[in-house]
Amino acid sequence: MHEVYLDYNGSAPLDPRVAEAMIPALESGVGNASSVHRFGQRQAADVADARERVASLVGASPSGVIFCAGATEANNLALIGLAEGTPAERTRIVISAVEHASVREPAQWLHEQGKAKVDVVGVTQGGFVDLDELDSLLGSDVLAVSVMAANSETGVLNPLAEVAERAASVGAVFHCDATQLVGRLPLSMDETAIDLISMSSHKICGPGGVGALLGTRHSIARLRPVTHGGGHERGLRSGSLNVAGIVGLGAAAELVAKERDAESARVEDLRDRLIDGLNTQLSGVRENGDATLRLPNTASVRFKGADAEAVVFNMDPVAISTGSACSSGSIEPSHVLLAMGLSRDEAFESVRFSLGRFTTEEEIETAVQQAVNSVEYVREMNEGDN
Ligand code: PMP
Repeated sequence: MHEVYLDYNGSAPLDPRVAEAMIPALESGVGNASSVHRFGQRQAADVADARERVASLVGASPSGVIFCAGATEANNLALIGLAEGTPAERTRIVISAVEHASVREPAQWLHEQGKAKVDVVGVTQGGFVDLDELDSLLGSDVLAVSVMAANSETGVLNPLAEVAERAASVGAVFHCDATQLVGRLPLSMDETAIDLISMSSHKICGPGGVGALLGTRHSIARLRPVTHGGGHERGLRSGSLNVAGIVGLGAAAELVAKERDAESARVEDLRDRLIDGLNTQLSGVRENGDATLRLPNTASVRFKGADAEAVVFNMDPVAISTGSACSSGSIEPSHVLLAMGLSRDEAFESVRFSLGRFTTEEEIETAVQQAVNSVEYVREMNEGDN
C-alpha cells in the first residue's frame, strides 16, 4: 500500500516548483543580504522580491513584512514585542482559548513575568470565538487581542471582522495567527482591519524554518524586538537573513496567489468525499466544530468508542493526527476540543484529517478504507477489554 499523507496542517510537503526556485539561492547565493557589495545586493534584491509576494498575499505593504523563522517566532514577536513596547495604561492581553501553543505560551510567560495580565476568551460549541464574552473582557486597558484565523485542529474560521471591530473600539491591537488560513482562503489585513498577522512557509508548501509577521505601519512601530543584534528586519528580528528560505516562501506565496481558489475547491471536494465515505461505512462518526464555516482541507472527526491514538497508529501508512499533545510523557486531550465543550473521553476519540495540494482521489479511497479497518479493529479490541 502507498504512503498517504493527510497531515498538511502539521506541515505541508515542499512543492517541487518551490524547491526549484530556491536552487539558485542555495547554489550561488553567496553574500550577506545586508552587505553593500554586489553579492550582497543580489541577495537583497531576491529578498525584496519575496517580500512583495508575501505582502501581497495578505494585502500588506512590503515594508510591513518582518521575516523570521516561522509562525512560532512571529507569534512570540507579536505578543512579547507589543507588551515590551506598551504604554503603561494598557496592561491586559486577551487571547482565545483555542490558540496554538505559540500564542498561549508567550501570553502565559508575560502573565507570569508580570508584564501583562492575560484573559482567555472562550469559544462556542461550534468552535468560534465567543463575541459576547469578548465584549465583556474588552476595555481601555487592553493592549492586544489575539485570535487565530482558522483553527489547526478543526479548521473552524473565526469571525475576524467582528473581532477587529471590537479590538479597534477599545484601541487594542488585533493580532491574528493566520498560519492555517493563509494559502487556503483569501485574507486581506487591510479589508478586515487586522493589525498584525503571523504566517508560516511550511504550511503553504514552502520550506520549513521561515515565516513572517506582517503588520501595519502603526502596529509595527509599537513592537520592541525579542531578538537583539545587528538590527535586521527594521530592528525587530536581528540575524542574517535566511535568503534561500525567504526566496522559497516568496515562491510558495506566488503559487498560492495563482492556484489557491482552484486548489481549495478541489481539496474541499476530496475532504467531503472522505467524510461521506466514513459516514457510509462506519457508525458513530461525528465531526467536531462547525462544518460550514471551516477550512476546505480540514476535518476533525470523532469515532465513538475508538481511542484516537490507537486509530492513528493502526492507519499506517496513512498519516493523520490526533489533536492531543504529549508533554512529559503524559498525553493530554486537545485543549481545543475541551474548550468547545467535548468531554475528555470524546476528545480522546478525535482525529484530524488535513488534506492539501498533492492529495489525490485514490489516496482518499485508501484513507477511507484504512480508517474503516482501523476503527473497526480498535473498537473490537476495546470490546475485548471490557
Ligand atoms: N500557529 C498555528 C495555528 C499553527 O498551526 C502552527 C503550526 N502547527 C504554528 C502557529 C507554528 O508554526 P511554525 O511551525 O511555523 O512555528
